[in-house]
Amino acid sequence: MVNDMGLLPYGRHFIDDDDVAAVVEALRSDWLTTGPKVGEFEARLAEKVGAKYAVVFNSGTAALHAAYFAAGVGPGDEVITTPITFAATANAALYLGARPVFVDIESDTININPEKINDAISNKTKVIAPVDFSGHPCDLGAIREIADKKGLIVVEDAAHALGAAYKGNPIGSIADMTVFSFHPVKHITTGEGGAVTTDKQEFYQKLRSFRNHGIVKGLDQMTEYHGPWYYEMHYLGYNYRITDIQCALGLSQLEKLDAFIEKRREIAAAYYRLLSDLEYLELPTVRQLVEPAWHLYIIKIKTNKVSRLALFERMLTRGLGVQVHYIPVYWHPYYQKLGYRKGICSCAEDYYAKAISIPIFPAMSDSEVERVACAIKEEIHFLLEAGT
Ligand SMILES: *Cc1c(COP(=O)(O)O)cnc(C)c1O
Repeated sequence: MVNDMGLLPYGRHFIDDDDVAAVVEALRSDWLTTGPKVGEFEARLAEKVGAKYAVVFNSGTAALHAAYFAAGVGPGDEVITTPITFAATANAALYLGARPVFVDIESDTININPEKINDAISNKTKVIAPVDFSGHPCDLGAIREIADKKGLIVVEDAAHALGAAYKGNPIGSIADMTVFSFHPVKHITTGEGGAVTTDKQEFYQKLRSFRNHGIVKGLDQMTEYHGPWYYEMHYLGYNYRITDIQCALGLSQLEKLDAFIEKRREIAAAYYRLLSDLEYLELPTVRQLVEPAWHLYIIKIKTNKVSRLALFERMLTRGLGVQVHYIPVYWHPYYQKLGYRKGICSCAEDYYAKAISIPIFPAMSDSEVERVACAIKEEIHFLLEAGT
């Protein structure tokens, strides 16, 4: 599955004829934006992840923003998260006038280190926002315990972890609110899109209203009633609505989620088989009682005899898509200007220096997996001998 530029990408969506037909049907229906497909997608998603409610949005970032809002995050509050994530996890706290507080990672799972969370909690902390990095669930039991002791809300950024499980429970059924993304590199896609799942009705109502300008329509919620046209705006919300067209695609994609995850697990197993004997490579850790969703497959170079940059460039030259996930969020110039200093999370920075994401996506063939693994072996040997 090579793309237009002759590159095997590191991640790619999978669209089949059923998906196309579902979108065409939606286009021919009476609804383009919020219609029956939105509610249907929400119901199927909630059922799939074992949550009472799901609220879908026009991006995962919008879903994060809404989840923090529903958790009561406001100006001056603090949200604890990890620096090894896409910037959106922290940015959504900034949107609300809150401050992201970065806690270092565990160097094996690359997830937030629960043992370091307590020290980061202040009287301004409202939310702990762990990220199931690469699709490997965080230590959600330990995080729950800390949150309960301090009366904090857990908003799990599971943009990488749709289809994963922790101690037998699907991701989406565990945290106070769980956030998903349907960007094309994620497990299922709606083009752009996202969702929050929750069991709490209070969160559910706030999420729905935040998506639509903070408007409420329920007779039980409104302070007055002037007639059938009447509604009230209670919060400063946004237009974060997703279209029926997108939800038709999401419904069709959701049907294939199990097969997608299965394929990702097969690729991860093949990489393990093909690469585990390589001395200078560290492969992903999988903790006990955890079933990862393998959004990313990340290898780490364990020797400074091999330059990560050189390996990266040589893989690209061979038409093999590699990427680095992620630059520590607080390293970005915007965060530096806000006063975050480099060096605050040493495990995250050490990880960032060594990591490379290699291709993993459902349409990858066995021979493509072998080609990638072979190339890594060859290039590492080459670079060792060249003494880069
Ligand atoms: C993709 C992603 C998001 C944001 O999702 P969008 O749908 O692109 O807005 C948030 N957090 C993480 C960890 C992500 O990977």
